[in-house]
Amino acid sequence: MKALLVIDMLRDFIDADGALTTGSAGADIVDFIEEKIQEFRAKDFPIIYICDNHKIDDKEFDMFPPHCIAGTEGSEIIERLEPEKEDMIITKRRYSAFFGTDLDLHLREKQIDEIYIVGVCTNICILYTAADARNLGYKVNIYRDGVASFDKEAHNFALKELKITLGCIIL
Ligand code: ZN
Repeated sequence: MKALLVIDMLRDFIDADGALTTGSAGADIVDFIEEKIQEFRAKDFPIIYICDNHKIDDKEFDMFPPHCIAGTEGSEIIERLEPEKEDMIITKRRYSAFFGTDLDLHLREKQIDEIYIVGVCTNICILYTAADARNLGYKVNIYRDGVASFDKEAHNFALKELKITLGCIIL
């Protein structure tokens, strides 16, 4: 069974004035992701939203400006990609969607063995989520037109790493 993972399409990353905005790179993938969500929904494949969601004094803020603090507007999924009630929403506090969450358990319960990933940032949450997924034995596909980062060079490096080192399929 296949599932679509929509990672961190949240206001702080996507809105032009978001706390950790990816700027035009993030805004440019919204249309593509919207199409993929419709495509997966039409085939009755699960859609799982992965959402960064931090405590106000989260350790991650030693490295990045505060963003996606639980309960703030910045932590909300952008309006155009709003989930529907059958979609699963998983919050996370670290880069990998598997770290400290029940994503693995949820995928196994639904007999999902192949995931398709879209979202931001290619070199951070996408890369480390895909790495954990591969270590756990999932087949992982990444939509090139559906991922972005605020750092173009790191984005390109991550796509290469995802393909060559992790064995993901880049679509
Ligand atoms: Zn974060």
